[in-house]
Amino acid sequence: LAEKLQSALDKLKGKGKLTEKDVKAALREVKMALLEADVNFKVVKDFVKKIQERAVGHEVMESLTPGQQVIKIVNDELTQLMGGTQSKLTVASKPPTVVMLVGLQGAGKTTTCGKLARVLEKQGRRPLLVAADIYRPAAIKQLQVLGERLDIPVFSMGDQTNPIDIAKGALSYAESHGRDYLIIDTAGRLHINEELMNELKEIKAAVKPHEILLVVDAMTGQDAVNVAEKFDEALGIDGVILTKLDGDARGGAALSIRAVTGKPIKFVGMGEKLDALEPFHPDRMASRILGMGDVLSLIEKAQQSIDLKKAQELERKLKKQEFTLEDFLEQMKQVRNMGPLDQLLGMIPGMGKVKHLKNLQVDEKALDHIEAIINSMTIEERRNPDIINGSRRRRIARGSGTSVQEVNRVLKQFNQLRKMMKQLNDMQKGGKFGRFPF
Ligand code: GDP
Ligand code: MG
Repeated sequence: LAEKLQSALDKLKGKGKLTEKDVKAALREVKMALLEADVNFKVVKDFVKKIQERAVGHEVMESLTPGQQVIKIVNDELTQLMGGTQSKLTVASKPPTVVMLVGLQGAGKTTTCGKLARVLEKQGRRPLLVAADIYRPAAIKQLQVLGERLDIPVFSMGDQTNPIDIAKGALSYAESHGRDYLIIDTAGRLHINEELMNELKEIKAAVKPHEILLVVDAMTGQDAVNVAEKFDEALGIDGVILTKLDGDARGGAALSIRAVTGKPIKFVGMGEKLDALEPFHPDRMASRILGMGDVLSLIEKAQQSIDLKKAQELERKLKKQEFTLEDFLEQMKQVRNMGPLDQLLGMIPGMGKVKHLKNLQVDEKALDHIEAIINSMTIEERRNPDIINGSRRRRIARGSGTSVQEVNRVLKQFNQLRKMMKQLNDMQKGGKFGRFPF
């Protein structure tokens, strides 16, 4: 999914101007990629429609980097689709907080109970694991082994007591032993049936869990979403834990569950090991899917620090050959407002991998000197550098604390830049320039 989405959006990235046709073509590919990833059809339809509405608008087409704007919109909408912000576990006002894990057989309930207990313990909590799956012969033993490895107590009453009594017994044990989280491992079935639901409903009625978390296997795609819908209808769930995301290349379940059921994904399982449970962050997941690393923060920075009107004015001047050292200074300041240049370079995907990034390292001191040199010129000189003679060069060097050689270099570079701009302009005949001429 990530690859397909990226390739669809890559086509927009480099473009100076976007037409409605460009956006539509890219969104068609986005749609196909999502459907192939087993994302719910209705979810895909709504999603693409929303992006289309936002992306074809005035604001994007007229913006500095329309392609990147569209990507940012896709990222925003993906994040919203998955719930927007991180959804945390409820905490009982009076401990213990009762958490009940439910789901089909093999989804990962027992393993996740152990992982969750570990997460809570790391936060300084005192969880109690509860073995309430009495049907699978090895289920109780499995939880006990996990408990031993984690050094977290496991409450069990064997396989002859019914799960409702086990849950009640565990609750009073937790209360009397100062355990502030109860994590109940329940039985699953191969398919949803009334017997399973009735048992879960009875446990629910008996211990009134603060969180009923449905554990679903991400690798089952659409099925995971259907299971979530059914469990929510029959039992009522508070959230979802999506397991085996490490083995799910498509990501369809992660994208659809929230939109279809209205219930948030709270954690994701990223492997068989006991430390492989992570809180679910919709924004990070979206960025991961789009494979864009820090590009978003880069775009945000650019939006904050670059004045669109000024940029347009600059472009007009460049075209008309009115570009002066004053403009040069102004533009340099705008870029520098975004932050240290080597840090900015590092945010560009792929740049981090460039071996010789050292050679690319921007000398901030040199930029300081350029600023100082231009600042030491009179307005008249900035607008028309050709009038700067030998004695003025010496004067500017002294005024800026630099050398005549440096002043000469800046003037020479500026002239080269102007020439380059003219050539570019002739070549493109009214086309667009790259925005940063240095
Ligand atoms: P239960 O029947 O729902 O209790 O499922 P189990 O906890 O027994 O897990 C079933 C299988 O899924 C086990 O082999 C687990 O190791 C595996 N499993 C659980 N969570 C994950 C996960 O996040 N990633 C991977 N790769 N395997 C998992
Ligand atoms: Mg189990």
